[in-house]
Amino acid sequence: MDLGINGKIALVTAASRGLGRGCAEQLAAEQCRVAICSRDSGAAEQAAKEIAANTGAEVVGFSADMSRVDDISRLLAQVRQSLGDPDILVTNAGGPPPGTYASTDLELYEEAFQLTLMSAVRLIHGTTPAMKANGWGRIVAITSISVKQPIASLLLSNMARAGLTGFLKTVATELAPFGITVNALLPGTHKTSRIDQLVQDRAAREGKSESAVAAEMVAAIPAKTLGDPADFGAAAAFLASRQAKFITGHSLLVDGGHYSGLL
Ligand code: NAD
Repeated sequence: MDLGINGKIALVTAASRGLGRGCAEQLAAEQCRVAICSRDSGAAEQAAKEIAANTGAEVVGFSADMSRVDDISRLLAQVRQSLGDPDILVTNAGGPPPGTYASTDLELYEEAFQLTLMSAVRLIHGTTPAMKANGWGRIVAITSISVKQPIASLLLSNMARAGLTGFLKTVATELAPFGITVNALLPGTHKTSRIDQLVQDRAAREGKSESAVAAEMVAAIPAKTLGDPADFGAAAAFLASRQAKFITGHSLLVDGGHYSGLL
């Protein structure tokens, strides 16, 4: 299916690897002109080169730390200068550190709030004026299954992403008359380095081997496999498509059936 976004300008943050990279790859495969970032300029530029080589699309890489206000402003200025104003925005950042209520120091809350919630708010603030002027825009925020089903060992993620989801739903209603859609994609358990980090954390806390924890994680997923970032990226590309214009304010799980609630 032609998603009708050939030539659109897309910004995907935190995308040198993992789910962000999966989204950037799929948007580039649709021949969007793609900007990506990560904290490390070398990693971002290398990933941009590889995605461009894989897809034939124009892809540029920048360094920016999503927890830093100045980096986000600088990134938006660099993207505007090199490609133009983004038509498509995929917000992403590294996950906040794992921890329970008992193990989480008070100062970590503010850091998680900046990294996980305010980065997306700032990116959306910076990109929607041009989308409104153009009468077209697609915003996809990578959040987590933890929004629907909080994860006991991820207190900061549970908290910040729930707040972000409230923001996204409110903004979706306000931006719909301008041809801008705002949706969240909720990963379950996908094969990325974030999951390696969570496996190590859980293995240390529970006194188990990493391979035992990894096997338990897979066993908990009805599809009996970890998610593939490329498939996750394809869902993002669809939400960014011309055809998805009537889908907004939605939180879509990509989790192999892991979420056990009804709605
Ligand atoms: P990952 O560790 O594989 O990749 C993270 C990417 O973000 C890398 O490119 C890294 O360089 C970049 N990055 C990290 N911190 C950054 C920062 N402060 N500023 C800019 N770039 C930064 O992680 P992932 O699995 O792709 O996860 C992406 C997001 O999705 C995270 O917030 C994670 O918590 C969330 N998530 C992931 C899963 C999963 O199964 N992988 C499940 C639920 C939620």
